[in-house]
Amino acid sequence: MHRYEALRSLESNARTYAATFEQVFEYGHGMRLRDSAGREIIDCLACAGALPLGHNHPEVRDAIIEFMHSGHVHQALDLTTPAKYEFVEKLFSLLPPNFASKAKIQFCGPSGSDAVEAAMKLVRHATQRHPIIAFHGAYHGMTSGALAAMGNLGPKIHAGPNASIGIHFAPFPYTYRCPFGTDGSQTEELSLNYLETMLSDPESGITKPAAVIVEVVQGEGGCIPVSDAWLRALRAITQEHDVRLIIDEVQSGFGRTGTMFAFERAGIVPDVLVLSKALGGGFPLAAVVYGRDLDVWPRGTHAGTFRGNQIAMVSGRKAMEIIVRDRLQENAAQMGALLMNGLRSIAARFPVLGDVRGRGLMIGVEVIKPSDELIAGPQDGNMARDIKLAAFERGLLLETGGRHGAVLRMLPPLIVTANDVAEVLERFEDAVAEAFA
Ligand code: PMP
Repeated sequence: MHRYEALRSLESNARTYAATFEQVFEYGHGMRLRDSAGREIIDCLACAGALPLGHNHPEVRDAIIEFMHSGHVHQALDLTTPAKYEFVEKLFSLLPPNFASKAKIQFCGPSGSDAVEAAMKLVRHATQRHPIIAFHGAYHGMTSGALAAMGNLGPKIHAGPNASIGIHFAPFPYTYRCPFGTDGSQTEELSLNYLETMLSDPESGITKPAAVIVEVVQGEGGCIPVSDAWLRALRAITQEHDVRLIIDEVQSGFGRTGTMFAFERAGIVPDVLVLSKALGGGFPLAAVVYGRDLDVWPRGTHAGTFRGNQIAMVSGRKAMEIIVRDRLQENAAQMGALLMNGLRSIAARFPVLGDVRGRGLMIGVEVIKPSDELIAGPQDGNMARDIKLAAFERGLLLETGGRHGAVLRMLPPLIVTANDVAEVLERFEDAVAEAFA
């Protein structure tokens, strides 16, 4: 048996990308991957947003090699090291000053899920309250607590009857498919009213929550951004009710949406910020950054062996330096606009492509069954999958997400150029044409 077939037969049935894209990926540089047959693939996923600079960025690689040769410790639990000092100093310099000046950081076992667990534990300790409000369609990770806050039933249906204990869900302002059945212009207001009722009406059956957890742009949920006004209103409501606001920027952080952090554009600050993916510049790292007033959890409340991954701190610091130096958040805004405009003109030619939305380089195209009566026809997850596979045949790697898996998601690295965008659009249009034929 060929060795890769042997590997496939050993790997779990729960594997995801490897089951869809069966090629053997050998090399990566920037936005390009090469498989074992020598075929080049444009990577429009960037490891689900974890590679802000694409694959094998030479400066990040050199920084790691230099560090490896330096004799410094590579893993350090949460001991103090020069690499950790430099990393934290850099990270705090990127946070809005009115947040950084009163913030603390806790490193987490290096997945985003673990940082979400920490955020929940933190607010529950500090408020001595248990409930947390999350949103329909939210994705916060796969560990039990994070999974509980997932708005999509699929991955948690087998997690048992208590999978969402302590979590209450509120409708997300998904204007294209208003959860209240009205047209999109009223979605935001209605979702805020709903939340207000959850927090103030004793008949809503919810005891006072510790926090609300939100993604500023729902990622896995289908690249759905909230407006700045909505986020400001959410901040105001949580403050009014003395409920903490956890912003999960695991996917949207570090320039991806056109600003260093997606929440910044609304001019607000969260109580807790959850970070991972791009935080480590491509290496596993996760952390929660939170207001000092919350720092009442006892020592050891959120331990974890690999919190002190020094290589990820070196790589993450270098990536942050490069993002700032090369103004890559601005590139994300510009290239994102170019890509989104291109996708919108393609969507105008194919009735199966509905809403094209996102912010910066978090872009989703919702695939629909066209209908004359409805603005947003029913979602078509099968067609989305067909387009994804047709795109892959043309050397374009993208993913599906969102409700019913009907959203084609693009998350190119922040180094994407106008030429890359043109190539992505060309391959994408061909793929849609083939799937739609
Ligand atoms: N939060 C968000 C917003 C995410 O997008 C993800 C991962 N897609 C997570 C949390 C979980 O991160 P991880 O997969 O590293 O556990």
